[in-house]
Amino acid sequence: QAKTLGRGRYEFFDVELRRRMQRRLRLEQDLRDAVRLGKLWAAYQPVVDLRSGKMVAVEGLLRWTHPVHGAVPPAEFIPLAEESDLIRQLGSHVLRMTTHELAARRRSGLDVELKINLSTRQLDDPGLVPEVEEALRTTGLPAKALCLEITESALMRDSALAGETLAALREIGVRLAIDDFGTGYSSLAQLQRLTLDTLKIDRSFVMRLGESADAEAIVRSIIAMAHAVKLTVVAEGVEHQGQLDLLRELDCDQAQGYYLGKPMPARELWG
Ligand code: C2E
Ligand code: MG
Ligand code: MG
Ligand code: MG
Repeated sequence: QAKTLGRGRYEFFDVELRRRMQRRLRLEQDLRDAVRLGKLWAAYQPVVDLRSGKMVAVEGLLRWTHPVHGAVPPAEFIPLAEESDLIRQLGSHVLRMTTHELAARRRSGLDVELKINLSTRQLDDPGLVPEVEEALRTTGLPAKALCLEITESALMRDSALAGETLAALREIGVRLAIDDFGTGYSSLAQLQRLTLDTLKIDRSFVMRLGESADAEAIVRSIIAMAHAVKLTVVAEGVEHQGQLDLLRELDCDQAQGYYLGKPMPARELWG
């Protein structure tokens, strides 16, 4: 009796596992097709200067509208892409698409910087630097108008290849940002050594501003630390006025969040 039950359960897990693997495989195949057919698009989210109140930058965020499943969040498909060479194609696509868009907008008088995200795998790819150069050359976007965001955890891996990539990117003149700051374990010394331009405070801290004295103390010290090594500080995930007021008081430089503007298609943002 027990044996039958055991086997039944085993088979159940087997079926469940197989179903999950099949969904992943299908999703990966669909993603491959989407990249090939140009079905991925970029949404742009405003980054606002807290002193002037002006939009000084936009972050390009990848969007995938699946024909059956609808919008698949990047948190689901980026890790999937990172498991294979797909992430390279995806990264190239985002780079070309967004630099093209921003260069055109800047030509018609808009003075905003473009921020895009780099994944770990891209940092380890020797092809990245020439690709960035190519995108800047073909679109005419000035290097200083492009900021590449790398998460704190990706930066702290201490990979020699990534170190070379970062140095080469700085050489070109593009800006570099540390993304989701506060979720990893970087030290002030590491921050200084990396010679970045911008630090983005992770949403998890900004979210609790005004509700938790701890969160406020943490944000205050992150800002002080970042300013000590001359980084521009961006707060991510601002959802209401109270957080904005507090961030201004704490001397934060820029902010981004649903309260200031959700990620949206370029046409919606600029017409
Ligand atoms: P991220 O770079 O930290 O981007 C910010 C994320 O926070 C975005 O999620 C944005 O929509 C969301 N967000 C902004 N303001 C608010 C807010 O006020 N409240 C809340 N709840 N969320 C807010 P999204 O677009 O889902 O992207 C998630 C992550 O996926 C990004 O985090 C980034 O790490 C990754 N990602 C997105 N596009 C790309 C890409 O083109 N390449 C790579 N490598 N990663 C990407
Ligand atoms: Mg980012
Ligand atoms: Mg972030
Ligand atoms: Mg984040």
